Amino acid sequence: MNAGIIAYSGEKLSVMKCIFCKCPSDASQSKEHIIPESLGNKEHILAPGWVCDACNNYLARKVEAPFLESSYGQNSRFEMGIQNKRDLYTPGVGLHPASRSKIHLRREDDSSFSVSAAPGEDEARFIETLRTQKSGSLYLPAAELPPTGYETSRFIAKIGLEILAQRGMDDPKWNEEIVNKVELDDIRTYVRQGRPGVVWPVVIRRIYPADFAFSDNLYPRFQMLHEWNLLWIEDPVKPIVGVRGEFYAVIAIFGVEYVINLGGPDLYGYERWRKKNGDRSFLYR
Ligand SMILES: [Zn+2]
Repeated sequence: MNAGIIAYSGEKLSVMKCIFCKCPSDASQSKEHIIPESLGNKEHILAPGWVCDACNNYLARKVEAPFLESSYGQNSRFEMGIQNKRDLYTPGVGLHPASRSKIHLRREDDSSFSVSAAPGEDEARFIETLRTQKSGSLYLPAAELPPTGYETSRFIAKIGLEILAQRGMDDPKWNEEIVNKVELDDIRTYVRQGRPGVVWPVVIRRIYPADFAFSDNLYPRFQMLHEWNLLWIEDPVKPIVGVRGEFYAVIAIFGVEYVINLGGPDLYGYERWRKKNGDRSFLYR
């Protein structure tokens, strides 16, 4: 561990630095949601200072929004019946082929549904077609798996780094250690600045249905919205000599598992681990 200098000022130890841009962040007010609030997360939050105000704002607009507004992001929130900050349900995005309109399907409080043309569509044409149509179909794509591209990968990389931060959130030395870890610099830059066209690999698969009913001693029936763990593979046995260990964040959101190596884009150690463990999820031992 890097000793560094921790200045003592009044009551609290400083200086906190942002885990993404490394700027001093003691004055920052933002509480960073590790998983966005609009995916139903109200409890997993980083205390102010771990992510500075500027990064908090950037991540919401440029890293979280593209995932949440993707067809998968939108329709999975719709299927899970997740309400946003204003207690509104996320509409499902579908298609009305007869009028060639994108539609919004909305869950109402009395558990009925309403349908309207999506914003920017020709509402009049949609209604007129519905009125004159004897029968017809509305299509709503099921939220199976998210796309494997750039946006999902950056979104998961952000969550991964924040999970690591959360592990030692009450220890100021942990903040210093994460900020100083050069092994994390690549993924920091990838999340904070982006690298269009480059996809940091993420292994994505469904490990249980989104609405799977779990039970334990406390609750006879509950849904698992999100869960995660960290997997350190010390000796990935790479063909190249002298390579460091691999450090994975294993995250499940609505039953979809995402595995990302925070130390580099390599997945060698994880693939070996998975083969050895009969393809099971690291989240379920
Ligand atoms: Zn920052």
